[in-house]
Amino acid sequence: MSQHYAITMPQLSDTMTEGVVVTWEKQPGDKVERGDIVATVETDKAIMDVEVFKAGYLAGPLADVGATIAVGAALGYITDTAGDVAIAAGEVVEEQAQTEMIPHHAGTPVVMPQLSDTMTEGVVVTWEKQPGDAIRRGDIVATVETDKAIMDVEVFQEGFLSGPIADVGSVVEVGHPMAFIVDDAAKANDTGVTISAEHKVKDIHKVAPHAADKPATIPVPKAAPAQVAAAGNQPPVARVPGRPASPYARKVAAQLGVNIAGLAGSGPAGVIVAADVARARPSMQEVAHSLPQVDVPGQGRNMTSMEKAVSHAMTASLTLPTFNVTVNIDTSKLTAAAKANKVSVTVAIAKACSVAMAKFPRMNWAYQPVDKLVERANHDFGVAVMSNDGGLVVPILHGIEKKPLAALQGDWTGLVERARVRKLAPAEYSNPTFTISNMGMLGVSHFTAIPTPGISAILAIAANGPQGTPFTITGDHRVLNGADVALYLATLKQTIEAPENWISGEASGARSEAANAPATHGAPAVSPIPEGNWDFPVVVVGGGPGGEDCARDLADHGIKVLMVNNEPFPGGECLWRGCIPSKAWRAAADVIRNRAHDAEMGVDGTNTPKLNWAQVEKHRRWVQTSRGEMALKADKGMKIDVREGYGEFVDAHTLKITPVEGEPYQVTFGAAVIATGAPAFVPPIPGARENLASGGVVTSDTIWNLAAPPKKLGIVGGGVIGVEMAQIFRDFGTEVLMLERHERILAEIEEEIGKVLIASLEKEITVVTSAAINEVSGKPGAMKLRYANKEGIESTFDCDVVLMATGKRPDTSRLNLDKIGVALDGAAIKVDARCQTSAPHIYAVGDVIGGYMLAHTAATQGRVAADNLLGHASEYDQDRDCGVTFSRPQAGFVGLSVAQAKAKGIDAVEAKMPMSIDAKAMITGETEGMIKLVADKASGRIIGVHYLADHTDTLIGIGVMMVAGEMTLTQVAKAIFPHPTQTELFGELARRLLNRLRRTAKK
Ligand SMILES: Cc1cc2nc3c(=O)[nH]c(=O)nc-3n(C[C@H](O)[C@H](O)[C@H](O)COP(=O)(O)OP(=O)(O)OC[C@H]3O[C@@H](n4cnc5c(N)ncnc54)[C@H](O)[C@@H]3O)c2cc1C
Repeated sequence: MSQHYAITMPQLSDTMTEGVVVTWEKQPGDKVERGDIVATVETDKAIMDVEVFKAGYLAGPLADVGATIAVGAALGYITDTAGDVAIAAGEVVEEQAQTEMIPHHAGTPVVMPQLSDTMTEGVVVTWEKQPGDAIRRGDIVATVETDKAIMDVEVFQEGFLSGPIADVGSVVEVGHPMAFIVDDAAKANDTGVTISAEHKVKDIHKVAPHAADKPATIPVPKAAPAQVAAAGNQPPVARVPGRPASPYARKVAAQLGVNIAGLAGSGPAGVIVAADVARARPSMQEVAHSLPQVDVPGQGRNMTSMEKAVSHAMTASLTLPTFNVTVNIDTSKLTAAAKANKVSVTVAIAKACSVAMAKFPRMNWAYQPVDKLVERANHDFGVAVMSNDGGLVVPILHGIEKKPLAALQGDWTGLVERARVRKLAPAEYSNPTFTISNMGMLGVSHFTAIPTPGISAILAIAANGPQGTPFTITGDHRVLNGADVALYLATLKQTIEAPENWISGEASGARSEAANAPATHGAPAVSPIPEGNWDFPVVVVGGGPGGEDCARDLADHGIKVLMVNNEPFPGGECLWRGCIPSKAWRAAADVIRNRAHDAEMGVDGTNTPKLNWAQVEKHRRWVQTSRGEMALKADKGMKIDVREGYGEFVDAHTLKITPVEGEPYQVTFGAAVIATGAPAFVPPIPGARENLASGGVVTSDTIWNLAAPPKKLGIVGGGVIGVEMAQIFRDFGTEVLMLERHERILAEIEEEIGKVLIASLEKEITVVTSAAINEVSGKPGAMKLRYANKEGIESTFDCDVVLMATGKRPDTSRLNLDKIGVALDGAAIKVDARCQTSAPHIYAVGDVIGGYMLAHTAATQGRVAADNLLGHASEYDQDRDCGVTFSRPQAGFVGLSVAQAKAKGIDAVEAKMPMSIDAKAMITGETEGMIKLVADKASGRIIGVHYLADHTDTLIGIGVMMVAGEMTLTQVAKAIFPHPTQTELFGELARRLLNRLRRTAKK
């Protein structure tokens, strides 16, 4: 059934009640993309463009040009059906299409950035540039006050600043324009509307009168509907008779846990739409505003954004049922130890809280509506600091559980400096997991602090008295009970009063390697392997990189481990069907490809290399079997009980093993680790699955059986595996056609790197994107791939074989996970950062848990699971993970891209350097590509490195160490790199980025 969305006349100011349609920029039936301008309207202030954020087709009936349309009424419609130019009277309109209004011909808007999760609006504090000023990428044009701090607004577009610009002091909603950038100084102006408080749609929350006979009315703000995106595959909630709701609204309701029976609908004919559901989970601001308000005499002034944010959070804290527990602690030894170790007492107390919390992880959890608990292992503690203007700012010390004191002190020094002048980046103050407020220095004898939604406990430290220093925790009773807090405080008391047990060497991070590894904090190790008379304390199911690394770490620590793998040798997909064989082929292909440069460098006669397929295969198999035998020998040498067979769970502590020969048998275990990987997934394209058996269609599991490189190869899927295979076979002389159903291949690669690589790839092979693959047919050697391109034109590609490179998907259907209480998230096993599943004694690692499906990721997670089973809290941190695409040139990533960092609220900056200016690359003729360095602007830490370069597989090691070691731009800028090597680029990049930051830094 078609879905229609109304484009409505928005309310652009408090005074606006209607608008006049000036032009239609699109006609009924035209395709509309997100961000297209479909019409212009005249409001009581200016002519504005109507920009829509819903893809589809414009459909009538459209409001006539010149017609006056009331705010909220439809101007026209967007439908998802091509050719549907007018929707019929009475047809159901699902939702409003999201729209944005921008002054007509004003230029590219500079919008109010969302600088934290909670930020909904910002106040313009200063304009650093004036209309008419030239703007360069990275310039700071204004500063704005958010609900937490004063922040710079940086633009990444060249041009000239132009009005209308928001007045200093005006409140602008997130996403709304503050000013514009035009491409010509002559076009810059400061006329027209003033984008100020008038342009912001003010919330008008009121308390809804309760009527017993009607569902409670949720106050509907005048603002644009709350933007909600339903994620995941959760099925929509069931329809409720008498409460019509759009399918999307029911999906959002499932995601947010909202009961739609109690909602009023604001859609056509009272239909409940997604925005109604979103409003049922109000923000702190909405909660604060919807509480009954007591009138107060006098002339009030408007609160600043920060005052408002505190007021909203404090009112929202009334939704937490709290209680207080106090113990007195002698802090003298900790104070002395902090001094001896050259760290502040604040940092030492935060670390002590973390050490004690390792035993009481619940203190770090939070209540999430409705009836959910967020179980967090990351100790990111907010610590209250007085800012220079007397307000309270709460910067966050991140990763306390895994950082040594010295590193924490380094973090803290920078945080305090920035907190005092309210210059914190959003990630530095958003989402603490626990909070500490120390008023000891102010001489208070006792006080309590208020936890707000998002944490379950806050610690208030008063001044030292005759009985010691009062430490009071206010806890959320939905997450914690009195005993939890009492026991935690008792442990905290021990930890603080005997710092010598955990603090020695912490400060310098100079604990011995043995003491440091694998523990990530100073808490005594308590293994969570359940006690019992088990055949094996731990069984590991699957012997790929994830299972094998886990089993090895456990065996290394004296744990008796059984590893069952349904293949004769360990190594999994990586060794037998993945990384190793594909790179053996790539190595041969590299030799062929590299010869192309020989003549350039003055060596003739090498450019007609000939492929000896039999030898390629012999070499590949030799590498595989040698490594398989080595692995098995090492596993057995480490006393892992390696068994060949298929494992499936019988109950929470019993595994059934079906060997290749002989009868199935059972073993009992205390804890288990599931590392069963993810096989290649073939979508149900007609003929794709049906031709697997004949070998006419192959996957990454079966391509290794090819008797010779095909003359013509059809590849369905433009991900990393498809691209690697395409270039390997191209180098072997194969003609390759690649079909991708999405708009872009290599969607997982950083955008700019991806674009350059795709352009390079398209010179070698034919790539058809937005392709519909209609059928695969034929027999090996004579296959037909029938597909249609973006325009719908059908073609057929005749080839020898079709490779379905359409992704991998975990298959846990035969593991009996329901018998052991292990939950799934889609096809993958759901785990937390410790790789623990919903059954506390079962862990899962590697491809079977989704995320990055890479061998080193699986191995890392295997070691994380082992650490946790050994009682040492340890987490997998995707933000420091890395990967190489073995294309030519090779693409690679470490950590975060700028876009990923910004999505996490990190104010990130990048610098890039093309390989074409590197001396060594020029010498070897390997000048294609670039290297990018991404840094956190606030701390100067390197948080990402991105590559497109020959030898990325080696150069990436430097990026890995920079990101893992949390190195700063200054450290890398000062490091000495040898000349002439491609490593010099890293020093240059760091120096360039530092200089840029210095230039744009505000005095
Ligand atoms: C063509 C290709 C190229 C690749 N290249 C790279 C690369 O260059 N770099 C990289 O990092 N990654 C690469 N990968 C990905 C890499 O192979 C995987 O991410 C990695 O092998 C995952 O490890 P794992 O331990 O999770 O699972 P797997 O390696 O899949 O191991 C799982 C093992 O468990 C066994 N098993 C499954 N179910 C059971 C059961 N019930 N009982 C007993 N045993 C069971 C399986 O047979 C298998 O041996 C590539 C993959 C492909 C297909």
